[in-house]
Amino acid sequence: MSKGSVFIISGPSGSGKDTLLGELFKKYPEILFSISSVTRNMREGEKEGEKYNFITREKFESMIKEDKLLEYNLYVDNYYGTPREPVEKAVSENKDIFIEVDVNGAKSIREKLPEAISIFVMPPSFEELKRRLSSRGTETEEVVNLRMAAALGEIKRAQEYDYIVVNDDLSTAVEDIIAIMKGSKFSLKKQNYIINEVLKNVKS
Ligand code: ADP
Ligand code: 5GP
Repeated sequence: MSKGSVFIISGPSGSGKDTLLGELFKKYPEILFSISSVTRNMREGEKEGEKYNFITREKFESMIKEDKLLEYNLYVDNYYGTPREPVEKAVSENKDIFIEVDVNGAKSIREKLPEAISIFVMPPSFEELKRRLSSRGTETEEVVNLRMAAALGEIKRAQEYDYIVVNDDLSTAVEDIIAIMKGSKFSLKKQNYIINEVLKNVKS
């Protein structure tokens, strides 16, 4: 039986992570998604408990104190965090789960779950990123500028990822993610255990 994987997905705001994951989950509804806790306001069109649980800063801080988060980070003045329990459950049940986090969150998860496969969603250009972020119409101009400043630092850290997917043509990028999911099952990260298993009864 193939083992489940934790997939970390990051990329600058506006690169198309949610759009890509939406298409992926339509094709593969059995794949799990880690719902983050967040202190930012709900955007138009967002629903509680779909991508985020929208909570107060006080509640977020108590989750930190109670060690309920696998990782968390402050991004453009708001806390974002990955609740520990659903990820641990997916791992113990051998299921595939996607965790969407920023570059700092990705680093923390890699340290805790070294088998996790990480994917960076890259926009085709910086100009196109700004166009997508502005045309999405969910942020004020000031927040768009703050997010573009964060994007610069994030793109520079794309080298920390196992895979980079350029989201130019949407359906091609979805197929690229599916190819990564399939291919990564055979990576050394996922298959290392098999070496000892095959050799366990061999006397050297
Ligand atoms: P993120 O989740 O990374 O912040 P979104 O999925 O919200 O990004 O996408 C940002 C905007 O770009 C949305 O308006 C979305 O419809 C658009 N978009 C996403 N992927 C593409 C693509 N391949 N080509 C053109 N526009 C895209
Ligand atoms: P947005 O406000 O656009 O939904 O997300 C802003 C940034 O926060 C994105 O880079 C997104 O990947 C990141 N993010 C979303 N959830 C989490 C989380 O649980 N932890 C961390 N560290 N970052 C997150």
